[in-house]
Amino acid sequence: MALVVQKFGGSSVADAERIRAVADRVARSRRAGDEVVVVVSAMGKTTDGLIRLADDVSSVQPGREIDMLLTSGERISMALVCMALAELGVEAESFTGSQAGILTDTDHTKAKILEITPRRLQEALARGVVPVVAGFQGVSTTNDITTLGRGGSDTTAVALAAALCADRCEIYTDVSGVFSTDPRIVREARRLDSVSFEEMMEIAATGGKVLALRSVEFARNHHVPLYVCSSFTWEPGTWVTEEDPSMEQPVVSAVTCVASQGKVTILGVPDQPGVAAKLFRALADELVNVDTIVQNTSTEGLTDISFTVSHSEIEISRAAAERLAPQIGASSVVIDDEIAQVSIIGGGMKTHPGVTAQMFEALAADEINIELISTSPIRISCVVRADQAERAVQVLHHAFSLERG
Ligand code: ADP
Ligand code: ASP
Ligand code: MG
Repeated sequence: MALVVQKFGGSSVADAERIRAVADRVARSRRAGDEVVVVVSAMGKTTDGLIRLADDVSSVQPGREIDMLLTSGERISMALVCMALAELGVEAESFTGSQAGILTDTDHTKAKILEITPRRLQEALARGVVPVVAGFQGVSTTNDITTLGRGGSDTTAVALAAALCADRCEIYTDVSGVFSTDPRIVREARRLDSVSFEEMMEIAATGGKVLALRSVEFARNHHVPLYVCSSFTWEPGTWVTEEDPSMEQPVVSAVTCVASQGKVTILGVPDQPGVAAKLFRALADELVNVDTIVQNTSTEGLTDISFTVSHSEIEISRAAAERLAPQIGASSVVIDDEIAQVSIIGGGMKTHPGVTAQMFEALAADEINIELISTSPIRISCVVRADQAERAVQVLHHAFSLERG
């Protein structure tokens, strides 16, 4: 008998019929002899709807209240899944993140899990009851309700699998696994049978939202076997695994895209020690996640610094940069909010020269201009105009022959 954590995303619990289908799947796993802990997201686009509602009500949105609002979505799903299970004769009990023992820090809207004490879940399992846990949420060290960032139900599921020493964590979603690129952008995208944690972290960090980045970090750090598959079909899915050193890795396995980002440029920055430190400290204090950073070579002691941020963090970055510019003697701040980032990812890049040139040639052949470039040992990312991003993904997917064979 295995202990399995099964997580169902928004589209998998989007309506009454989907919720009954989820219950049916859980009931089958129980009948097959497995112990199951279920983690659910909010129904369909509920979280987006709640964010819009908050925007309509007020421009002042304390993090504490946003989190209280957003966590209500997952509560609806967990109670309904329990009812659907009851109808199938499977005893189930719902638990909020707090009841499931998920303790977080106090950073509202992007809290980090500090500790999990899943005592109530273990008691339920011991009684033969299926615990159904609300994803994406926890309770802070100061006893307030928190959320784990968008897509955070994946993190709840993996973290619970680690805390419960589960045999595996299954992520059920609306595609049949991790693909060579978003199958909504390239129809011929290929499902990967397996992907290494290293590659999956790069995919998740560069826009492949099929798994939340923190869930992959958690799975790697705690050695949780992770499987992504469809809740709509019974097709095979994708294993996210430790790299197998005996296997030759594909040079490029995936293409990703962050469709909308912002670029902040600070012009005329004195080229002196400590200036970049001050700037990025100010951004870190605002909890801004800076992505690519580029500093030009200086002319006459002055340089320009550009960095990219997610679209939702443009305004807070602009405010921090404008506050700091006079203090560090910079001349002005320029914002560009129409950029996107496309990336190619592959473990085999480490040993294959020429991949960068091939990427740039493919983009150039389609007249796509590259504005910034950043790399890791297994990733190359280019900032391009937002309206060329989809085309760039298609061009790169084709250039590296990633289509279904
Ligand atoms: P859920 O609600 O189940 O958590 P998400 O919408 O968060 O689902 O993630 C699934 C979506 O991720 C898919 O519908 C797909 O459009 C998108 N996606 C982006 N990149 C990839 C990729 N490389 N492989 C699979 N899906 C991807
Ligand atoms: N409902 C949350 C969101 O939409 C969490 C999740 O779905 O994972 O971001
Ligand atoms: Mg998701």
